[in-house]
Amino acid sequence: HVKGRGKDDFQFYVDTMNVDTSNRLSLERDLRRALEQQELRVYYQPQMCARTGRLMGVEALVRWQHPELGLLYPRDFLPLAEETKLIGDLSEWVLKTACEELQPWIAKYRADTLRLSVNVSPMQVEHPNFVDSVLKLVDGCNFPADHLEIEITESMIMNDLEQISRKLGQLADRGVRIAIDDFGTGYSSLNYIHRLPIHTLKVDQSFVRDIRRGDDGACIVNAIVAMAKGLQLQIIAEGVETETQLQYLRDLGCHEVQGFFYGAARPLSELAQYLPEQKAAQII
Ligand code: C2E
Ligand code: MG
Ligand code: MG
Ligand code: MG
Repeated sequence: HVKGRGKDDFQFYVDTMNVDTSNRLSLERDLRRALEQQELRVYYQPQMCARTGRLMGVEALVRWQHPELGLLYPRDFLPLAEETKLIGDLSEWVLKTACEELQPWIAKYRADTLRLSVNVSPMQVEHPNFVDSVLKLVDGCNFPADHLEIEITESMIMNDLEQISRKLGQLADRGVRIAIDDFGTGYSSLNYIHRLPIHTLKVDQSFVRDIRRGDDGACIVNAIVAMAKGLQLQIIAEGVETETQLQYLRDLGCHEVQGFFYGAARPLSELAQYLPEQKAAQII
């Protein structure tokens, strides 16, 4: 990410946080203000059908438009949000905003299959109210629950399989889809896969980056795709940056791709170009 000078300043800010209580407090104040004064943004990255290049879904990725430091990325402030317990408010804000923003798209453009993917944090999932709060937010903005996908990571499953299974089951019962993000990087065993209501595996970008026909990276991607297909899961490859990677994944039978090849995350309005209806309207 190119963040220019702002990022260095911010990194300094973060690094000194642990030793300097007043800095930490001002940072917490900053984040709180960011939430209240709408400095946070939801950016959306397109998820495209590998075969047809059609827009299938968007992943919501949070940004912080900091008044002095410019656009900040999740890794600059999510760890902090977790520490200060602001992650709960932040997560709810992201989900609510994303549902509100995308809802008209689904209605207006009749984008029947358009799916919204939202990342959740470990603290959020562990909260006793997780399921209720998700469903309440979704229902509150009339967002169709079966167009929502929740992205969890393997590390969240390792702690308490029983509990997470129950929670995800409740969401899945309402039509919410569940995706495993960064699949293959979590040091977990595979036995959770058929014990949880999972719909999608997201192949981590580190494997996609290593794809070179015949190489180890390619072997791992081949194995993941083969397993996912056997289990009848949807497969999305992350971090697809080149035509070569896209072609390789398409030939393997990977369903969807997401990455800089098609486009980085951006404000929703800038994604209109990916809609087939919109395209048609432009041509006519
Ligand atoms: P993730 O969910 O695995 O998201 C993919 C990350 O890869 C995003 O980084 C995205 O901008 C980046 N990316 C997309 N395509 C490419 C590509 O072709 N090449 C490369 N090198 N990178 C690509 P981002 O937006 O900085 O987010 C980082 C992580 O922060 C996310 O990883 C996710 O775990 C977390 N995150 C983002 N937004 C939220 C949120 O609202 N809530 C929670 N709990 N976590 C979030
Ligand atoms: Mg994700
Ligand atoms: Mg990922
Ligand atoms: Mg990640």
